Amino acid sequence: MNRLVERFLRYVKIDTQSDPDSTTFPSTLKQLDLSKMLVEELKGMGLDAFLDKDGYVYSKLPSNIKKDVPSIGFIAHVDTSFDAPGQGVNPRIIKNYQGEHIQLDETYHMEPKQYPSLKKVIGEDIIVTDGKTLLGADDKAGVAEIMEMVERLVEDPSIEHGDIYICFTPDEEIGKGADRFNYEWFKADFAYTADGSEVGGIEYENFNAASAKVKFTGKSIHPGASKNKMINALHLQMKFHQMLPTFMNPAFTEGYEGFNHLTEVKGHVEEATAKYIIRNHDMSIFNGQKEKFIQIAKYMNDSYGYECVSVELNDSYYNMYEVIKDHMYVIDYAVAATKKSGLTPKFEAIRGGTDGARLTFGGLICPNLGTGAYHFHGRLEFASIQQMEKAVEVFTNIVKEVTLK
Ligand SMILES: [Zn+2]
Repeated sequence: MNRLVERFLRYVKIDTQSDPDSTTFPSTLKQLDLSKMLVEELKGMGLDAFLDKDGYVYSKLPSNIKKDVPSIGFIAHVDTSFDAPGQGVNPRIIKNYQGEHIQLDETYHMEPKQYPSLKKVIGEDIIVTDGKTLLGADDKAGVAEIMEMVERLVEDPSIEHGDIYICFTPDEEIGKGADRFNYEWFKADFAYTADGSEVGGIEYENFNAASAKVKFTGKSIHPGASKNKMINALHLQMKFHQMLPTFMNPAFTEGYEGFNHLTEVKGHVEEATAKYIIRNHDMSIFNGQKEKFIQIAKYMNDSYGYECVSVELNDSYYNMYEVIKDHMYVIDYAVAATKKSGLTPKFEAIRGGTDGARLTFGGLICPNLGTGAYHFHGRLEFASIQQMEKAVEVFTNIVKEVTLK
């Protein structure tokens, strides 16, 4: 069996689920089972590698040329999602997939009509689950591809390269993968996270994100004696919500359309709260959405004559494009490398956040690359062996592109 596939199968068999309810960092110790294995494998290739106290694996492949070229980083996460079972992963390879119905176990199955991603792997060898767990290709496909690229660079010194930094983070799935990233040690000029879906995918836009907590203060009085006196906080909440733009409900949006999503309502006559998340790729529209919350509150407070509504807004993360737009050469390298690998680059704006965005705002520009895996976070997850091979080629070609400059 091909070494990349062996690697991938070795990694997915280790349960590395992170835990959103944990108060420790990393959130689960079992993630380190894989991290430690990666350190040993990197050392086995002759690289310096270490696991730091927060559970991050760092390593560096030093430059093999005299020329001064940019140093690049490659990053992937070791943890898997908590949305599906992650223990006892038992993958199966389907050779030369022809678009047939795939029965994973007695309950779980998939076929291209319902899951069009399967059409993207026809004629390829795919790795699927046994229907009992997720596969963990998110993000062990990324981990395996980076490891394989490094080993091939070590084995073939004729490939010239500058300094290459490697990091494998814990806890990406619970939104904490960038929390304790060591920017001091990781001195790459820019980096790529290998954590996307279709190979050839290059992602450098994500949502700007904020949360809003809206508090409503009513005036309670016995309903029998409430004429012209009662102000019901629950009604204030409904009124507020109705003044928000109807078609900014996420269920009406896709692509670059942002939304205000009502996530929670609690309350009684005297007091109620509503929680929203606010999302948009466009910073000025995003700011306009937030402004609307303030405007509605002001309007209601003015018309009721007291502060019946208060709004607390908190920004969560920003679109990495805000930074990357001034450093588009980082994308150009990825585009050139993708084309050189015989693929057509595909750009899609992420409708969520990503550790790459956090890292980008932390000072390390970090777009995201496809790994050849699909249906993340569930039992229907699968990876294409040929696309994973291509991803290794794309990453290697990025190294080559950067060295050319
Ligand atoms: Zn991921």
